[in-house]
Amino acid sequence: MAYTPARRDPKAPPVRINLLSDTQTRPTAGMREAMARAEVGDEQVGDDPSVNLLCDRVADLMGKEAAVFLPSGTMCNVTATLVHCRPGDEILAHVSAHIIAREGGAHAALGGFQITPLQGADGKFTPDTFRAALHPRTRYQPPQTLVSAEQTANIGGGTVWKKADLDEVVAIAKTNGLATHMDGARLLNATVATGISARDMTAGWDSAWIDFSKGLGAPIGAVLAGTRDFIDEVWRWKQRLGGSMRQAGICAAACTYALDHHVDRLAEDHANARALARGLSQIRGIEVQEPETNLVFFKPDGAGIGAGDMVAALNRQGIQIAVMEGRIRACTHLDVTAAMIEETVGLVREIARKV
Ligand SMILES: *Cc1c(COP(=O)(O)O)cnc(C)c1O
Repeated sequence: MAYTPARRDPKAPPVRINLLSDTQTRPTAGMREAMARAEVGDEQVGDDPSVNLLCDRVADLMGKEAAVFLPSGTMCNVTATLVHCRPGDEILAHVSAHIIAREGGAHAALGGFQITPLQGADGKFTPDTFRAALHPRTRYQPPQTLVSAEQTANIGGGTVWKKADLDEVVAIAKTNGLATHMDGARLLNATVATGISARDMTAGWDSAWIDFSKGLGAPIGAVLAGTRDFIDEVWRWKQRLGGSMRQAGICAAACTYALDHHVDRLAEDHANARALARGLSQIRGIEVQEPETNLVFFKPDGAGIGAGDMVAALNRQGIQIAVMEGRIRACTHLDVTAAMIEETVGLVREIARKV
């Protein structure tokens, strides 16, 4: 079975500290209460008041005309490219982008699009790199119709695009007739880290979305925003892909709760990430990328142990943590405390000392 996720070995040590991903957050008691109280209706026919409230709120947050509730961030990306592009079109994105690396080839499989990977440090291409990748419209080359940027860039290290670069990418795209899409899975981490509002951050971007099942701590859901016409077309794909729901207000209420209670606190996750990076960087041989938000990437190789072995050793101590492209990724979130960070640093030091 190559594709079915392996179930956790019941004999494995219990997970005490979960740094695997901000998707691992559990709904809090307050969030569950909000879900239990949610007013609901049939989302598929536009009758769920909790979903409608959430969509209006996110549209307003991002300064867009309309928004739609989808089961996942992946479906936000997929429906967005399906509306922006036609089969044979070319999308430009960073080589490490989620749409290239983590969506099972959905954009090729479902849309017939090709994605040109752009290079650049820390998960971001520069406006110049983008400009250089543009070609004239000829019948030989694929029509370039969309540019996509991740805010924050996940595999890039949770890094934040500068507002000036975002604006320049939009300007170049507009001049050259490309639409713009922001994968904002962790957009609110970027807004909290910089103090720049979501409205300003997404200004000029034709479509943008936020994920509620990451650091915001909701169990399910993402909201994609854009013009009224764009969202209307997204609804058609939502229906086609089986993403239309029924009493989804139960989930939307969790997302609205997250907007009310879990946004400002992202600053704590960022502080925990900085503390983790500081602690790890004091261990000889551990190379740490300075975190900008809630993701900490590090390489233990200099301490004489590979990423895979370090992670296996941490797992045995009840610490869940990810290996990505040869580096270790620790993710701070709602269920990670400062004490857990301290303990993690101590265990990494211990494991490195023993090799
Ligand atoms: C998690 C993530 C997604 C996909 O979101 P899901 O809700 O897991 O489908 C897309 N882009 C980025 C940058 C992500 O981190």
